[in-house]
Amino acid sequence: MMKLILLGLPGAGKGTQAKMIAGRLALVHVSTGDMFREAAAEGTALGKRAQQFMSRGELVPDEVTIEMLLERIARPDAQAGFMLDGFPRTLAQAQALDAALARRGAAIDAVLYIQVPEAELLGRLAGRLGCPQCGAIYHLQNRPPRRAGRCDECGSELTKRADDRAETVAERLRVNREQTEALVGYYAPAGKLHRVDGTGEPAQVTGRLLLVPDALSAEVQKA
Ligand code: AMP
Repeated sequence: MMKLILLGLPGAGKGTQAKMIAGRLALVHVSTGDMFREAAAEGTALGKRAQQFMSRGELVPDEVTIEMLLERIARPDAQAGFMLDGFPRTLAQAQALDAALARRGAAIDAVLYIQVPEAELLGRLAGRLGCPQCGAIYHLQNRPPRRAGRCDECGSELTKRADDRAETVAERLRVNREQTEALVGYYAPAGKLHRVDGTGEPAQVTGRLLLVPDALSAEVQKA
């Protein structure tokens, strides 16, 4: 029944780590960025609205994002626990999430903050490629696909995310830095915030992140 949040600037490895941790702990992985990109690809009204903000590197308005997220975590598959990736991004989102969970007598268990120096983030974002079909993530230097430009998993053509282009990356980092600091200020006093070193091999980072839910489970078992 673990309810976790993953925080980190763009390129910190949230998407990769969220998938790993959700898999290891049997939690539903909920990525608001993936949900918006899927809606945009399907051309739904929500997707078209979100696309206007995403392509400029801006946040989608709170009321749209909060409604979509709360509806997602109310579904049956999320009742056994979830790993949020990319939500909350604002204090209003964090407060709306806490209020919705409190109505069910529940609360967030831990917020894992993946920290990576900003110079490294810029390099990671510049080389990032993704598969629009299955969501696999690659990097031109650090994790190249076996066949140039093609997904190892499903063979689809890899693309660069519109908001990973040089002109929007700096703005995304600036906006995200301010918002992440605000969220740190919200969760730290509640004793929920855990800072985790996000440098090094992805598997090492996963190991560091898993120490937190492992310790929480051990506490629950002792009590
Ligand atoms: P991500 O994949 O998490 O980097 O998200 C990509 C884009 O989707 C962001 O730059 C925003 O435009 C939008 N987005 C994702 N999550 C949120 C959120 N929690 N609040 C507002 N906008 C979001």
